[in-house]
Amino acid sequence: MGRLLAMSLAKRGAHIDLFDKGGREGQYAAARVAAAMLAPLAESAITEDSVVRMGQYSLPRWKALIKDLSKPVYFQQDGTLILWHRQDASDAERFSAHLLNNCQRNTSLTKPQKVTGDQLHDIEPGVADRFNQALYLPNEGQLDNRQLLDALICELELLNVHCHWDAQINPENLRSQPYTAVIDCRGTGAMDNWNPLLTQNTLRGVRGEVVRLYAPEVKLRRPTRLIHPRYPIYIAPKENDVYVVGATEIESDDLSEMSVRSAMELLSAVYTVHSGFAEARILEMATQCRPTLKNNLPEIRMLQEKGLSDLILINGLYRHGFMIAPAVLDCALQLLDQGESAIALELGLNITKDMSRHEVACA
Ligand SMILES: Cc1cc2nc3c(=O)[nH]c(=O)nc-3n(C[C@H](O)[C@H](O)[C@H](O)COP(=O)(O)OP(=O)(O)OC[C@H]3O[C@@H](n4cnc5c(N)ncnc54)[C@H](O)[C@@H]3O)c2cc1C
Repeated sequence: MGRLLAMSLAKRGAHIDLFDKGGREGQYAAARVAAAMLAPLAESAITEDSVVRMGQYSLPRWKALIKDLSKPVYFQQDGTLILWHRQDASDAERFSAHLLNNCQRNTSLTKPQKVTGDQLHDIEPGVADRFNQALYLPNEGQLDNRQLLDALICELELLNVHCHWDAQINPENLRSQPYTAVIDCRGTGAMDNWNPLLTQNTLRGVRGEVVRLYAPEVKLRRPTRLIHPRYPIYIAPKENDVYVVGATEIESDDLSEMSVRSAMELLSAVYTVHSGFAEARILEMATQCRPTLKNNLPEIRMLQEKGLSDLILINGLYRHGFMIAPAVLDCALQLLDQGESAIALELGLNITKDMSRHEVACA
């Protein structure tokens, strides 16, 4: 979020300093570990309508943003495939009914399509020998998060943005310097500052573990999700036969390495989708925490105080940071320009303003 905002503001002529606790590869960012699926309909099963709308808004915006970058970033919009094993058919029915219901409420969503075994041969031949039905969600997308993080930094360098790497900062301390605004996009790194300010909607980490595999024997064309009562997984194919398989979702901000249990669950579930994963090579097992507010929704906070730079806090992107980032970006830009955001109102992104120190102290 920080890199995207820095680039957009620099393009408009602002002088920007970017501070990151880590390096250009983003080793402390949830964004580095994510699968970066852009799947508003699939996610509508577990999130609020506002986040789904932000996801829909963001898909065409990603296309435009990526087109303008100097370095290529893999972006695909060939839909999501949902699979299940025969014994889990009732769970799949429930999931499908849930999505259809959401499509009725939000008519701009494209309805999921039932896929027969024959159709599966055409859409995703790699799994057609193991599954004889599926659900296809058209229009959904994904991008390569690591390519994007790198391309954004290259863009920042071209725009002469001053990037301070390995710079762990407290944004409060920058407010007395002559910046117009200080924007805090530190994800879970903002916990110490966010939580004393906001007693209600506290920030937490939700642990997620993913495996990166090199699997040249597997040819999946699009992100594929497996409905399973205990091991629901997704497989996001990246370029050059790399697959991101994830993800656990554990209420904890533990950043330690992947557990044996998670590794066994992810790897055995992925093998049930395609036997070619048996000979895959494990490139990486990674853990990060999704920055999540108590209500599981994203939020922008704006603090204005006399004699200090404005402080804008953007957080709570949870498991949807890539899916909704362009929407959050456009809302933040409008807020900076006009002090309010019509886009945020339309999409339902929470914006809170002017929380005075007095209120904070009393809260
Ligand atoms: C396993 C997993 C899978 C995911 N899959 C998806 C997906 O498929 N689709 C999707 O849309 N989203 C997904 N997400 C969610 C997405 O990654 C996050 O929502 C998103 O990265 C949040 O962006 P952010 O910029 O707020 O935080 P981050 O990406 O965490 O970035 C925060 C940045 O702040 C820096 N920072 C922290 N503290 C400090 C400090 N004190 N000083 C300076 N810098 C600091 C960090 O170094 C980092 O660069 C996934 C996340 C995980 C963990």
